[in-house]
Amino acid sequence: MTEPQWLEAWTAEDGARRVDELFTRSFDGSPEGVWSAPGRVNLIGEHTDYNAGLCLPTALPHRTFIALRPREDDQVRLVSAQAEGVWEARLSDIAPGAVQGWGAYVAGVAWALAEAGHKVGGFDAAVDSCVPFGAGLSSSAALEAAAAVALDAVAGLGLAASDAGRAELVEASRRAENEIAGAPTGGLDQSASLRCREGHALLLDFRPGLKPLESGVPVPFDLATADLTLLVVDTKAEHSHVSGEYGARRAACEQAAQLLGLGSLREIAPTLGGIGIDRALTELEPHDPDGVLRRRVRHVVSEIDRTARFADLVREGRAADVGPFMLASHASLRDDYEVSCRELDLVVDSAMAAGALGARMTGGGFGGSAIALVRLSDVDTVAQAVAGAFADAGLTAPAFLLAPPSAPAA
Ligand code: ADP
Ligand code: MG
Repeated sequence: MTEPQWLEAWTAEDGARRVDELFTRSFDGSPEGVWSAPGRVNLIGEHTDYNAGLCLPTALPHRTFIALRPREDDQVRLVSAQAEGVWEARLSDIAPGAVQGWGAYVAGVAWALAEAGHKVGGFDAAVDSCVPFGAGLSSSAALEAAAAVALDAVAGLGLAASDAGRAELVEASRRAENEIAGAPTGGLDQSASLRCREGHALLLDFRPGLKPLESGVPVPFDLATADLTLLVVDTKAEHSHVSGEYGARRAACEQAAQLLGLGSLREIAPTLGGIGIDRALTELEPHDPDGVLRRRVRHVVSEIDRTARFADLVREGRAADVGPFMLASHASLRDDYEVSCRELDLVVDSAMAAGALGARMTGGGFGGSAIALVRLSDVDTVAQAVAGAFADAGLTAPAFLLAPPSAPAA
């Protein structure tokens, strides 16, 4: 039997001790404080954020910790337990395309806050994390969000104190990732890390112009009292061309919306006065000889609908009934959006065969992680079945995380 490898979340004390020690070892004296932010997992609503759609993430118990101290000058010095050496730059030199390396995610947040008119100076900071990198669990957003709440506190901005202020921190973190780190992601990850609540999922609506209260609605998602848990499987699979494929999917969505004369694919929804999916597909047909555009559109529109219905069920306390939506989401991502891969399909198939209530890939795809909704009593059975299936297939052993909906950046 293949024993599953579990990736435990650090306690708050453990994380704080680690970054405090790293800070003290790397710079003179002590940090002004320690902050942290979670990775995230998306329950449903994949590739919908850049289509003005709906997503439903929860925060992981796994967090990135940052110990930070402001400086008198505009220098930024960063160390990470996950990276070599010291990353250094002057704040005044930070601009789109001007900096390389992991520090762009942190310094980029300071740059974006300054761009938004806030007064932010230089700082020294130490980072450590139990969020796996590149696993589709948003270690990048956890890093940005940890930096955002730390800078908010030391600069006395007070943004983290309200949901509306947190929406501003989301925007700064997103701009850091898009414009300074150069990764074209849609805002889901940063919203989840900064705005999720413990015991809740966060129903995100990416229609432009919504107020914070409408753009992010907490939905109670109490798994434990339903004897359920969320199992996350990091497949460790990393396929090449991921960012190129992501760009191609985004471009296809934009092209389809343009052909339909819409601002976004979200506007196809009849509930928003749109023409509905059937007519949209008919109108696209003459422009779409190989059917690729229509498959992409069908995924996006059906996924937004599934996300709304999934959230309704959760709101009604019927978390045990969401399994079919997870499976339909996975099939749509696999067959219509074509972003799954062998490893993600194997998690879904082997978890379902071992008694999971639902399972799907999560995150952008082509590797990364999958999730399974599992009865507490079945966790070990399901994890062993998935680990065994990977071993039988000769694949790298995956890592398993338990993911009760956890607290946001603080
Ligand atoms: P994901 O967000 O899915 O984990 P990304 O590729 O978006 O994957 O982000 C991973 C990148 O974020 C890393 O390559 C690194 O540059 C940066 N990063 C995240 N966490 C840390 C950390 N603790 N220390 C240093 N860099 C980090
Ligand atoms: Mg990321």
